[in-house]
This record gives sequence, structure tokens and C-alpha cells, in this order.
Amino acid sequence: MSTTYDVINPATETIVTTIEHYDLAATDATIEKAAKAFETWRNVTPADRGAYLRRFAAVVASHKEELAALEIANSGHTRGNALWEVDNVVNVLTYYSAAPERLFGKQIPVAGGVDITFKEPLGVVGVIVPWNFPMPIAGWGFAPALAAGNTVVLKPAEYTPLTAMKLGEYALEAGLPDGVFNVLPGKGSIVGNRFVTHPAVRKVVFTGSTEVGKAIMAGCADQVKRVTLELGGKSSNIIFADADIAKAAASAPGSVFDNAGQDCCARTRILVERSAFDTFMEHFEIAVKKFRVEDPSLATADMGPLISRKQFDVVQTFLDEPIAFTGSAPTGPGFWMAPTVLMPKNVQARSWREEVFGPVVSVMAFDDEAQGIAMANDSEYGLSGSIWTRDVGRALRVSRAIETGNLSVNSNSSVRYSTPFGGFKQSGLGRELGPDALDSFTEVKNVFISND
Ligand code: NAP
Ligand code: MG
Repeated sequence: MSTTYDVINPATETIVTTIEHYDLAATDATIEKAAKAFETWRNVTPADRGAYLRRFAAVVASHKEELAALEIANSGHTRGNALWEVDNVVNVLTYYSAAPERLFGKQIPVAGGVDITFKEPLGVVGVIVPWNFPMPIAGWGFAPALAAGNTVVLKPAEYTPLTAMKLGEYALEAGLPDGVFNVLPGKGSIVGNRFVTHPAVRKVVFTGSTEVGKAIMAGCADQVKRVTLELGGKSSNIIFADADIAKAAASAPGSVFDNAGQDCCARTRILVERSAFDTFMEHFEIAVKKFRVEDPSLATADMGPLISRKQFDVVQTFLDEPIAFTGSAPTGPGFWMAPTVLMPKNVQARSWREEVFGPVVSVMAFDDEAQGIAMANDSEYGLSGSIWTRDVGRALRVSRAIETGNLSVNSNSSVRYSTPFGGFKQSGLGRELGPDALDSFTEVKNVFISND
């Protein structure tokens, strides 16, 4: 572990702590340890494996304030979000703690004997986590992976390793055997890439940029390694004139500026039916100006800073179109940016086409249902989206027509741990969460037993 890394508080630009990074040798040693631990973990009885996960959940829950404070300092997440994120880890662990005893196979009628299927664990699963939601995205990978009988190596993003490192400690405190759940802070090019190339890692779960995701998929092809990808998004918030416009407008800032817009589900395109456009914009401006950007440790904060100077600089390059209005943000140290509403001149604008990952939203009008659908689908991405209408038939038609994995009607919520999450098109491959996620962490084995 040769190099050190200074973890920065994005709200103050001060050093939170300095950590050691895993190098290649330490990464290999940990992967081998996880491979060894797999031999016993896979044979822990289903009820006992469930009990381990419930104990892990209980230890995480007992450190709720500590984990939330760490995420506020490391990631600039608002206190409200950080507390939700700890709860999400607890809920996901608890949800999948019921899975080992429900990992059912099938009995299939055949001639001459009995045919049964088993869902076998894969081995070591590598989870690569981005910096935008360090705790939840880690949990969506490690909880079902462990439940299915795999061991886990997890690489947090360089910017945001602290809560993941704590979760690694809590797993041991909860009694999980050494080597079952391993957290390896380090560089993507070293630790993350080794998950792709090391033959003992049998699956990679990656969340992050589409660019790196494509490289990981290509790398995994070499060993036909299983891969789940959760990548970028350019999601639409489609508001029809018959909707509760005041409600849609009041809820729109949260759908894109939450987590300072650093959310793959951010609704960065707002499409408003032309006859309601002016009314929507009046209400939306009031809501944006009320959106509180401030010290994220305050319970009143709606939004904190961006994660880094680099991310701040990238986001500024998207301010390429007329600005309708902005909210406000603190000045001084920290990577602060005011929520910004653009009115692009046409659909070729970069801010309309590309993922921003910052507090910038673009608004355009559409004339009818068909045009609204076409504008929303005009993207290489397909992760999330919202539809606001009081017309049930229209809600159903538009839901079925939009090419994305997660839609909400008269709501902007994207994620529930009990329902599947993932993307169409270049937003990803596979699904996380919900009842079927175990299938992504197991292989089906078919066994025929002869009557003879
Ligand atoms: P990224 O490079 O895709 O990083 C995601 C994770 O992959 C990090 O843990 C990263 O490690 C790791 N990684 C990087 N290169 C790797 C490689 N060659 N092999 C294996 N792992 C590798 O994302 P980013 O640079 O942090 O952000 C860039 C843009 O990606 C954002 O502006 C946003 O548009 C998008 N993004 C999307 C999501 C999402 O939830 N879909 C999340 C984050 C970012 P390091 O920390 O060491 O780089
Ligand atoms: Mg990167």
C-alpha cells in the first residue's frame, strides 16, 4: 500500500483525512483472500447466512449518525440525504437477508428421473462504486452478492472512500468471517481494473460513466466475465397541460438538483406541453429560488456543493444556452454552484444531449403526446423519467412508449430497494435491487438424477 490520498471536504476544501491506497500487490492478495473465504462462505447454511446479514444491518443501523456525518464531510451530501442513505444500506441488507432461504430452484418434469436446478454462487464478485452515492450503490452490489453466497471485493471511488471503509469494519464487527467482505480504496486504473483482469473475480458490478463502463465490458469479454453496468442518464420530466402544474413545478427542483445534480436519474430535461409552459415556468422559478443551497450539515439544506473542483469545471462548460433563471449558492471556499435553468434554442445543444452531473436543467416545450415521447426518446440513454398527467390512459401509453428502465407517474421517485433498477440503451446492462437481483449473482445449474 504505497501511496496516500487526501480526502477533501467539498464544502470547505479542507482535508478530512489521509488514507492509504491499495496497490496491485495488495489488491491481488485481497482477491485471493476473498477466493479462499468463498470456500467456507458458500457452505454457510441459508439461515445462518441470513442471520449474518441481519447482524450486519443492525451494526450499520447502530452507527447511523456516525456514517451520515462521514458522508456529509466526505461527499457534501445534505444531512437529510445522508441519513436516508444509511437507512438504504440497512434496508437493502435486511431485504436480502431473507434471500438465502428463498434461493429456489425448479423441479422440471423429464423422462427417466428427476431434474432439478440450483442457483449456485459465482465466487468473488468485484463491486466498483462511483462517488455520487457511495453508500447506497455499494449496498446494492454487496448485499445481494453476499446473500447469494459470493464473497465481495469492493472499490469505492477515490473521492469518497470513507463510508465504504467503515462498512468494511462493521461487517467484521457483525461477525462476518474475515475475507467475505473486503473494501479496497484505490485507483480505478489499478484496483478497479484488476477486478476486470483477475481470473478469480467472476463478476464485476460497475456504476459510473458510460465511457469507463464500455471499457469494463470490453475487458470482461476476455474471460466472458459476468458484468452488470449502471451508467449515465439523460432523463426527462414530461409535464402535460392536464397535470397538477403547481405540484409538478414544486417537485421539479428536487428531481434534478438533489445531490447537486450528481445523480444518474436526474431529470435534466423538462418537457412541458406548450399550453402550460408559462404557468409551469412561473411556479418553477419560485420553487428553484426556494431551493436551499447551504452547509450540508444543516437539517434545512436541500443541496450541498459539487464533489470536486474538476466536476465544477466540467459542469460550467454546459452553460452554453440562454439562462432562464438561477437559484442561489454560498460563496467562498467549497465547490458551490447555484441551481441553473436553461432554455436551449434547439435539441442539438450539449446541455440537452449530454449527461451534466451538476445542478443544470434544460426546459423545452412540446406540442402533443407524440412529440413529447419522441423528444424524450431522442437520447442514447434510457435510465429514468417522470410523467405528470391526470389522464390514466395517457399515463399508461406514455409509460409504455418511453425507452427507459424506471419511470414515475405524478412523482419523481426513482429508487425503491424492493423494485428493479437499471437502464435501457447505453444507461446500462442488467438490473439491481428487487426480487430478481439474486439472478445476477448466481449461475443456474441443472442436475438430472436417473431413476436407475
Ligand atoms: P468513472 O470514472 O466512471 O468512475 C466510476 C468508478 O470507476 C470509480 O470508482 C472509478 O475509480 C472507477 N474506474 C475508473 N476508471 C476505471 C477503470 N479503468 N477500470 C476500473 N474502474 C475504473 O466516473 P467519474 O470519472 O468519477 O465521473 C465522470 C462522469 O461519469 C460524471 O461526470 C458523470 O457524468 C458520470 N457518472 C455517472 C455515475 C452514475 O451513477 N451513473 C456515477 C458517477 C459518474 P476512481 O475513483 O479511481 O476514478
Ligand atoms: Mg473517471
